[in-house]
Amino acid sequence: MHHAPSAPPSGPIETRHGACNLCEAICGLTFQVQDQRIISVKGNEADPLSRGHICPKAVALKDLHEDPDRLRQPMRRVGDQWQAISWDQAFELVVDGLARVREQHGANAVAVYQGNPSIHNWGNVTHGHLFFNQLKTRSRFSATSVDQLPHHLAAYWLYGHQFALPIPDVDRTQFMLVLGANPLASNGSLMTAPDIRARFKALRERGGKLVVLDPRQTETAAIADEHLRIDPGSDAAWLLSVIYTLFDEDLVQPGHWAPLLDSQEELRQAVSAYSPEATADHTGIDAATTRRLTRDLAQAASGMVYGRMGVSTQEHGALCQWAIQVINLLTGNVDREGGALLTSPAINLIQMGLMGKGHHNVWRSRVRGAPEFGGELPVSVMAEEMLTPGKGQIKALVTSCGNPVLSTPNGQQLDQALQGLDFMVAIDFYLNETTRHADVILPPTCFVEHDHYDLVFLHLAVRNVARYNEAIVEAAPGALHDWQIYSELAQRYARRVWSLDKGRALQRVKGMASRAIMARLSPQRLLKIGLKRAKSSITMDQLLAHPEGIDLGPLKPSLVASLSKRKRRVNLLPTLIRQELPLVQATFLSASMSKAEGPPLKLIGRRDVRSNNSWMHNTTRLVSGKNRCVLWMHPQDASARQLQDGQAVQIQSRVGQITVPVHVTDQIRTGVVSLPHGWGHNRPGVNLRVAQAHAGASINDLTDDRATDRLSGNAAFSAVPVEVRAA
Ligand code: SF4
Repeated sequence: MHHAPSAPPSGPIETRHGACNLCEAICGLTFQVQDQRIISVKGNEADPLSRGHICPKAVALKDLHEDPDRLRQPMRRVGDQWQAISWDQAFELVVDGLARVREQHGANAVAVYQGNPSIHNWGNVTHGHLFFNQLKTRSRFSATSVDQLPHHLAAYWLYGHQFALPIPDVDRTQFMLVLGANPLASNGSLMTAPDIRARFKALRERGGKLVVLDPRQTETAAIADEHLRIDPGSDAAWLLSVIYTLFDEDLVQPGHWAPLLDSQEELRQAVSAYSPEATADHTGIDAATTRRLTRDLAQAASGMVYGRMGVSTQEHGALCQWAIQVINLLTGNVDREGGALLTSPAINLIQMGLMGKGHHNVWRSRVRGAPEFGGELPVSVMAEEMLTPGKGQIKALVTSCGNPVLSTPNGQQLDQALQGLDFMVAIDFYLNETTRHADVILPPTCFVEHDHYDLVFLHLAVRNVARYNEAIVEAAPGALHDWQIYSELAQRYARRVWSLDKGRALQRVKGMASRAIMARLSPQRLLKIGLKRAKSSITMDQLLAHPEGIDLGPLKPSLVASLSKRKRRVNLLPTLIRQELPLVQATFLSASMSKAEGPPLKLIGRRDVRSNNSWMHNTTRLVSGKNRCVLWMHPQDASARQLQDGQAVQIQSRVGQITVPVHVTDQIRTGVVSLPHGWGHNRPGVNLRVAQAHAGASINDLTDDRATDRLSGNAAFSAVPVEVRAA
């Protein structure tokens, strides 16, 4: 196995600029490298987006690179042992394993799961589809449906494109209302905003206001002008009350949107049951506060509502994201400075037609009938599609840098389902809780070993920036980048499934002629072609000359103009939302009733600055110190159960139980408990030695695969009913 060189370094120290891909903030970094060894990682002051910001995770890039547990050769499972094999052998085994399942059980029996790092590594973005599209399977899943799927659905309904995601103009806004997000821990999500602390500080210094609604006193709530502890899962009702108040107090001022908005009157009627007075009991936010905040937003020079994970991953996630857009539209804040705007990246995948508009409910899952969105089914149904016999049952799985056993609801059930597969391949460099079920693991190079241009997060950044970085250190001889793995898999699979010779393999597959060219081109070559095709003012030479990034200025209005050009109007009340509204009302009436009977505790998640996903737990510097996998509970709830701070508690939900220590704190709302995600490294057969020594327990052994947002199918992680008792 290849490791970072172990002889003492003696060569010259070189400075190289790169980026961090560990989270959405994509901070610019400066590395010092000696003899292909990273000796320091610092924030790059010259970076126009991150301006020198760095968080403790960035140094983990070095740890990941050097991690002795990282796989560096393809591995094949033989019984419960792993054997290193050649790439050629590995590709043949994979193609044969997948093709056999396809021949015996049909194309949909081969499933794909793409984890979150798939979009943080550009080789996955440029080349992953070459292989995945060839599988021609409807059994496609990704981390989207445990995360931001409701945002895409709302954008699809309102603006006609799943990626038309207006980004908060945090650097110029005067009023920002944050729900279910903790940017101080995340540095923004669907809002790439490195050093958000400084950005929020600047907001307040220019006289703006930051308001946070969250059941927990998050790091963001702690620095806000106002923090309201909303009851988890009630955000939909609260947002509907804001819409109600906009109409009720005559605050609707869509401004430049006015000529494009349809169904305003229908919307007013549709929310008539949601006065702030009617929802106050349910949300825990008194009516006067809701009305005051609505006025503050409507009367601010600019402002917006921004809601992320906490409101996306709940029973009415899509309705929440729709409501947020509608509030921003009715106050004229979409597509205006200081509101929420689309970005104009140098490579604009939407404008170039390289990101599909999306489609919804064109087909449904076999067992539960959950709707597809953009060609993917919700991952909450993946295990049942593996466990339920019948035509179309999933028998094989391809995972791409994901760990759904820890990151999707009811992980225990998925764990069991993976055991029953006929074949599984993981494109991943860790033997983790999910990949341990694979027959073959194909490990790509790690982030510092390949070049990078952020095709995804530059679309989501609070400032328009272009930045390309070459690899920081050389990859080991014989190592393959992710794009090379996908390119090879695509070509070999086409040959095997369609029994073609090498030359004719790709042409025979529908639409593959241009893809065949792409398969042979590196992401860098594609970037160069893309810049030309996009008629960008930026050239590859300029990018190479400015590895710190090129500033393309603040966000600019473009959405109204583009919709007007396409003669597209915005229907404020899509049919599915119209149908859903009475159900929301029923939920909140029944919730008010069950409150009287003494409901179970509601479990919510928790983001921590030193963690993002399970794969960051194998670095000592990120897991050392205080145990962070602890259950937060309010003193009143603890005393009602006679629990002491630090005591081990058993948490029980419909699907399972786990044991963790309890942390008694008044920084959480009564009736609510909170756990971080990505932990639970105590399963056998894993090779993550640091993580295993800090195993924790998985919140997703409690979250429920049956609890989903009806409209989008997104997992409803927020407000999981649980009982807690002394262990
Ligand atoms: S905030 Fe995110 S992108 Fe920036 S250094 Fe930390 S992990 Fe990396």
